[in-house]
Amino acid sequence: MGSDEQRESRLVGGSPACRQAGTLLGPAMSFIDFWAEGSFLKRVTAFTVKELQPGDWLSWLERHIHIVKVRGSNPLSPIYMKSMAGLDLKTQLGNLIRLQALDTEIYGLRQEKEIKPAEIKVLDEEFEAKKQHLAELEKNLLDVQKQRKEKELELATKEESVKKLQGQLYQLKTNKEYQAMLQQIGDAKADGSVIEDKILELFNAADAAKAEIEAEKQKLQEEEKVFKAKKGVVEARIKEIESQITEIEAKRGQILPLIDPKIMAQYERILGSRDGLAIVSVKSNSCLGCNMFVPAQVINLIKMYENIITCEVCNRILYIEDEAA
Ligand SMILES: [Zn+2]
Repeated sequence: MGSDEQRESRLVGGSPACRQAGTLLGPAMSFIDFWAEGSFLKRVTAFTVKELQPGDWLSWLERHIHIVKVRGSNPLSPIYMKSMAGLDLKTQLGNLIRLQALDTEIYGLRQEKEIKPAEIKVLDEEFEAKKQHLAELEKNLLDVQKQRKEKELELATKEESVKKLQGQLYQLKTNKEYQAMLQQIGDAKADGSVIEDKILELFNAADAAKAEIEAEKQKLQEEEKVFKAKKGVVEARIKEIESQITEIEAKRGQILPLIDPKIMAQYERILGSRDGLAIVSVKSNSCLGCNMFVPAQVINLIKMYENIITCEVCNRILYIEDEAA
């Protein structure tokens, strides 16, 4: 009586989900039976084997069954969740602990996912800065080319004035005027020569700038590959986290029906306000949630399993390590 084998053998009828829920309930409930009548009537109930006499379980069932209406289904179809309220508190705490383990995983994954957009932003900005450097080099080249054109114009003007002065040379009357003009032409030619040197310098600068741009473009292509690969890794991890969360949430969904909705609401409330940690154990008179002292009277209350006991400091649900699980 009460062995798992016996329990399993009575888990007949009902949907696979109902049977799974039955096996999940654990030894605290010695016996769970589900059965279905047609496709509408699925009743779920739970009772202890010690109260069960061979042959009279059906009449026992009649008295203890809870039928709850399920939205959208036939009036007689129940949800088995309601009957779970019949689970003793110790068992429900054990289920809460299993739930917390899953929620801790989900919390960690969500935290990790939350910082991913910032990681992508940093990568984007780094790559943008590299592109910006290339843009600066290109602007610099344009500046050099513009300066060269200006110098070329300046040189043309100088050459024009030399020609003009040379044309005037033969109209001069005196040797003194002639010598002065020659001096002027000489100065203009010297100026032109300085401009020519500058133009050559700018040609060289443009060549160097073009080479630098070419090298930078090549480098940027490589950088882009690295950037896209890094970004891909982050994006893939986000997808992976999402699917891991979905998986854990499915496991979570199997435990949920095994906890009283009121307890569940309290748990969820603490979970939301206490960094994803709602139920913690007490060790050496300390709450493992906040490390504060837990008085012996409180520990006694926990061991009574009559009410949910919470930490007076951090408000988390408390359990004793070896007692509930
Ligand atoms: Zn605490």
